[in-house]
Amino acid sequence: MGRAGEHDGAAVGRVSEIVTQESVMAWLHAYAKAVAENREYLTELDAAIGDADHGINMDRGMQGVVGRLDALGEPGRAGELPQGDVGALLKTVGMTLVSTVGGAAGPLYGTLFLEMGKAAGTAAELTVAQWAAAVAAGVRGVQARGKAELEDKTMIDALVPAAEALRAAASSGLSLADALQGAAEAAEQGMKATIPLVARKGRASYLGERSAGHQDPGATSSWLLMEAAADAFALDAPLARPGA
Ligand code: ADP
Ligand code: MG
Repeated sequence: MGRAGEHDGAAVGRVSEIVTQESVMAWLHAYAKAVAENREYLTELDAAIGDADHGINMDRGMQGVVGRLDALGEPGRAGELPQGDVGALLKTVGMTLVSTVGGAAGPLYGTLFLEMGKAAGTAAELTVAQWAAAVAAGVRGVQARGKAELEDKTMIDALVPAAEALRAAASSGLSLADALQGAAEAAEQGMKATIPLVARKGRASYLGERSAGHQDPGATSSWLLMEAAADAFALDAPLARPGA
């Protein structure tokens, strides 16, 4: 009887507890899709307190990332991306974003992925704790580059709580799926909390008090990033394809 229980556990074992290059690929594709679907929404948010280009910028960047990853997947090009290497993939994403996205967000998201990639090293498998550490390193990189603190009404308001939720989840031994879900919820709260804030960084800060009452576009795209991870990551492709 105990055996039957174990067997059920094995069936549910499709949900992976490790992060691989393949799961990061799934995340990036899910994020590109989410950004494309929310392109107008992100641009409307930026129209209120910025220059109405955040959705356009992010969509261009993520289409660039998907194009680059597809090109790397073609026969004969595989050598450019060391197979299985999570850090190399993340660094490629970061460099692509820096080179394709205009505006403030491009270099900041580029830095996020570059620093995550450096922290991930050349590992092919990352535990929840290692993933949490990589995300934290990425977010520190964004802060070092953009000099934004919490409550400056930027993407930092979504990213810092998400990274903290991941760290807390990892240290209390939560599953990858639960950790990512918690991070997405923390990012959503942080995003919503930007509404009443007065912007102190970026273009929105030029509006002063008039920036209050609007949700920050960058915090919104960062929430989408964490949502995409919760949706795409927990299912590990090789395990989800029996016999593959
Ligand atoms: P731009 O402001 O150059 O038009 P985007 O519209 O693509 O660039 O991105 C705007 C978003 O960038 C803002 O909503 C904010 O979240 C983020 N941002 C701007 N400056 C900073 C900064 N110094 N640190 C962190 N995030 C920032
Ligand atoms: Mg803008």
